[in-house]
Amino acid sequence: TSLIQLRRLTKTYGQGDAAFQALRGVDLQINKGEFVAVMGPSGSGKSTLMNLLGCLDTPTSGNYLYQDIAVERLNADQRSLLRRHALGFIFQGFNLLARTSSLENVELPLVYRGLSKKERRERAQEALVSVGLPNKMRNTPAELSGGQQQRVAIARAIVTRPSTLFADEPTGNLDTRTTDEIMELLTRLNEDRGITVLMVTHEDEVATHAKRIVRVKDGLIESDIRTKP
Ligand code: ADP
Ligand code: ADP
Repeated sequence: TSLIQLRRLTKTYGQGDAAFQALRGVDLQINKGEFVAVMGPSGSGKSTLMNLLGCLDTPTSGNYLYQDIAVERLNADQRSLLRRHALGFIFQGFNLLARTSSLENVELPLVYRGLSKKERRERAQEALVSVGLPNKMRNTPAELSGGQQQRVAIARAIVTRPSTLFADEPTGNLDTRTTDEIMELLTRLNEDRGITVLMVTHEDEVATHAKRIVRVKDGLIESDIRTKP
């Protein structure tokens, strides 16, 4: 079933002589439960595409359907609500609060949800256990390895039970072995929980973990290949 549908999506930055069309009419459909790697050279439009897909920005023209929601018609507050309820984000730099324990980092997205302190704590603990960090709940990011920090960030991203997880170069700061562990974790979340994963990477080795590879070039989709069933 269709989760994301882009039709003739464009994005132009700037105006007049300075205008630059970063996306030039992208058509893309992603079904629920897919694991997609977005690749392409620097400046090709990957971040622009991910910012639009992640409802962080609005297109200049074209349509974006997320489930049955016309995202291009939402204002900033409505997009923020959609992000908080349906989407999760992880980053190359982890983006954890430095002086804050793993548990509190993971609880944070639940604060807006009107859950009791007890429920927040239980769900955050459950998320940290599910990413393999049952013994690091009280530690701050400085006390954790890069791979452990990314696991905390993944727990924070999934604690709200999002339908889609956006991963922007999630292994860009990690060594090869840790990269494989993080990719195995993302695969498990995709397969066991049905979370749709959209990941930007420039590493072929990382992209092999995805089931579909979308290549962006000069603001258009250059190729779109299903690599696993
Ligand atoms: P990628 O993520 O593939 O490196 P981007 O989506 O960041 O590509 O950028 C695509 C093009 O749009 C680049 O030429 C970039 O310089 C331009 N661009 C990106 N963001 C802005 C912006 N805020 N203002 C003007 N130009 C931008
Ligand atoms: P907050 O919840 O911190 O007030 P928003 O309502 O703007 O922030 O954002 C909701 C969601 O969108 C959060 O899960 C956050 O991780 C994500 N988000 C916000 N800004 C960005 C960004 N610049 N890049 C990627 N994700 C972002």
